[in-house]
This record gives sequence, structure tokens and C-alpha cells, in this order.
Amino acid sequence: MSPALRCHRCGERYEDATRVRCGCGEPLWFETDAAAFTWADRRSHEGMWRYEPLLPIDGPDGLAWAAGGTPLVRSEGLDDAAGCRVCVKDEGEHPTGAYKDRGSAAAVPHATAAGDGAVGTVSYGNMAMSTAAHAASLGRECVVLVPDDISPVRLELIDQYGPTIVRVDGDYGALYGDALELSAALPVRFLVSDDPARISGYKTALFEICEAFAPDAPDALALPTSSGGFASGLWRGIRDLEAAGLLDDPPRLYLVQTAASDPITRAFDAGAVDPTPLSPEETGETIAHSIGNPDPPSGGRALAAVRDTGGAVVSVTDDEIRAAQRRFAVDGGFCVEPASAASLAGVARLSERGEVDDDDAVVLLPTGTGFKELGAGDASVATERTSRAALPERLASLLGVS
Ligand SMILES: *Cc1c(COP(=O)(O)O)cnc(C)c1O
Ligand SMILES: [Zn+2]
Repeated sequence: MSPALRCHRCGERYEDATRVRCGCGEPLWFETDAAAFTWADRRSHEGMWRYEPLLPIDGPDGLAWAAGGTPLVRSEGLDDAAGCRVCVKDEGEHPTGAYKDRGSAAAVPHATAAGDGAVGTVSYGNMAMSTAAHAASLGRECVVLVPDDISPVRLELIDQYGPTIVRVDGDYGALYGDALELSAALPVRFLVSDDPARISGYKTALFEICEAFAPDAPDALALPTSSGGFASGLWRGIRDLEAAGLLDDPPRLYLVQTAASDPITRAFDAGAVDPTPLSPEETGETIAHSIGNPDPPSGGRALAAVRDTGGAVVSVTDDEIRAAQRRFAVDGGFCVEPASAASLAGVARLSERGEVDDDDAVVLLPTGTGFKELGAGDASVATERTSRAALPERLASLLGVS
């Protein structure tokens, strides 16, 4: 039996574990009894299920076992670009290439255990791939609602897992609310960005980082933020470890948005409790399409997380993101998608502002792999050319051997 749900904002408690939002409008969290947890209670599993005692379901079947356990690497090559001591938690190393698998690994089995119907999601990016993959592994039908003008590349990425893909003409942003109503009316559970089981899966990234640093903790974590779901999960993880007495000095949460659509940054700067949704005129195009949400469902939770941990929210431009993506690869060897590169660009800004120190240990969370984005062909790639016969001499000259 799964635990009850609790509203962080008003304290209301719900026994119905399929509920998503509180009557007050806030997304809900699963209650966990973390007070008695010690590191010795973790299971011997490899991935995120080693924290099973702090999750709302027991280790399920299927692809869920491939979630979590991503590498955490000290990456000295990125120190210069970031202006601090960098560790990289490479969340792109998941079955579908994004941290979303931690959430799907908990939410899809949670939904399938609760009923016979299909699962679904509203996404044309990483959330769609992840939900479809985890549903496929459980033999469960999956419905993915995508915008009518979705690109063929994205369709192909999502379609490989065999979901029912429905192109929807109309206000795509409004589908988030529709999906919750459709879940109540039809035999399909839409698992959107703030689904409580999904959020509980995300907190395992925080557990993995803190376990690696224990008994110390990193000074800060930096992540790209859109709906605020990942931030909510990481903060929930911090609170669990604090309740368990395992984290005295929690890391500051630094959230990075794209300047093209940054309602959470605006609310942070204005001292607001909740973000104000941006109008279409206030939203621009960005290469960081995984973080372009003008109306973030977990925005209030993300802001609370930042303020509670003494962090900040910053926005970065596409030019800064492009440069950071290049530094991730050239200075660190990481292939990250543009949204993920925003983590580095944001920390560089905070270092310039003096909010991050050069001896701070900062964990960057590149949330998704860059491999899905490549393939359009870049004619500007600089190469050397030679004949096979002239190769030894050419190579010698390139290597500076005369
Ligand atoms: C979903 C996603 C994000 C944004 O995460 P939220 O939980 O919506 O804030 C960031 N980066 C990547 C790669 C994503 O797929
Ligand atoms: Zn509430």
C-alpha cells in the first residue's frame, strides 16, 4: 500500500494516492518516514532502488531497474568555465538519455499497480520518451499527446517504444490541465511533470550525490529548470536527509532558466511566492527547448526550494548556452543537450556575480544527453585533409614535430 500524500503549502493530507494536486492548487508530495533512515538501510541494488525505504513503492518490474546510479565525476577541466570546483552528475546516462527515467521508474509502476488502464503523458521531448519506454517495459499501453506541428525527428524518437501518439491541434500548454481531467474521466493515467510518484523518483539523484559526499555535502547543486519538478524532487530529498539527521549543511539549489522563457527567475527577482505565467508575447524561441515552460506547474515549489537552501535562480541566453555546451564537451568530455548546458552557463554567471566562490564544490546536473540533438549536420566543422601518402608528414606537422 502506498503512503498518503501531503501538501507542503497548506498541510492538507490525502489518503487517495492517485491524487496529483491539493485543493489549494499545489502539487502534492508523498509522505515518507525518513526520520529513522540511516545509510545502512539502503538496499544492495545498483540504481535508485537502493533507496527503496524512502520511496512510495517497492522495487517494481521492468525498465525501472535501469534508472539511477548515474556517474558522479570530479571534472577539473570544467573548473575554469564554472569558476568553482566542478563535479558532474551525468543524468544523460539513463536508458532514454534523461533524468526523467528516475521519475518514470516510480510513476509508471505506481500507476499500473493502481489500475488496469493506459498511462499517458503530455510531452514531445524527454518526458514522452521516458514514459513510453517504461510503459513498454511493463507491457502497458501508453498515450502521448504531442503538438500537431511536432518535428519528424521527435516523432521517431518517441515512436520507437510503440506508444499511441496523438497530435493535438490547439493550445498545447492548456493540455496539462486537460490531462488531469482526462485521467479522471477515462481509463488512462496521465503522468505529468508534477505527478507525486515522479517527484519521489527524482529525489534519488539527491540521495546518490549526498551519499557520495557523506559525511560532507557539496556546497551547491546547479540544474536547468522548466516545470520545477526536478527541483521539487531534489529539495524533497534534502528534507528527507535532514529529517534523518544525515545532512547538516544542505547544498544551495541553483536553478537555471532560458532567458527566452524564465517565469521562475522573474518571480525570484521580484520576491514572489509563485511565478506569473508568461504570455506568448513574453516568450521567445530558444535552442534549450527542454526548458521553455512559460507556466511551470511546480514553480512555487522550486522557488521555495531555492529560498530554503539559500540558492538562486538565474537566466542565460542561447549564446551562453551554446558556449557552455561546447565547454562541457571540449573541457569535460560530456555530450549534453542545450538545456543541460544551461547548468554550467548559470554557474558561470553566479561566479561572476560573486555568489559562487572558486573553492565551492558545485555539482552540475546535466539532465539530458546531447546525442538526440545531433545529426542535422554542421557544415562549419573544421577538419584537416590529406592524401594517405602525405599523411605521415602532415600529421607530424600538425603535432608540431619538425
Ligand atoms: C525535463 C527537462 C528539464 C526540466 O526539468 P523540470 O523538472 O521540468 O524543471 C531540464 N532538462 C532536461 C534535459 C529535461 O528533459
Ligand atoms: Zn494545499
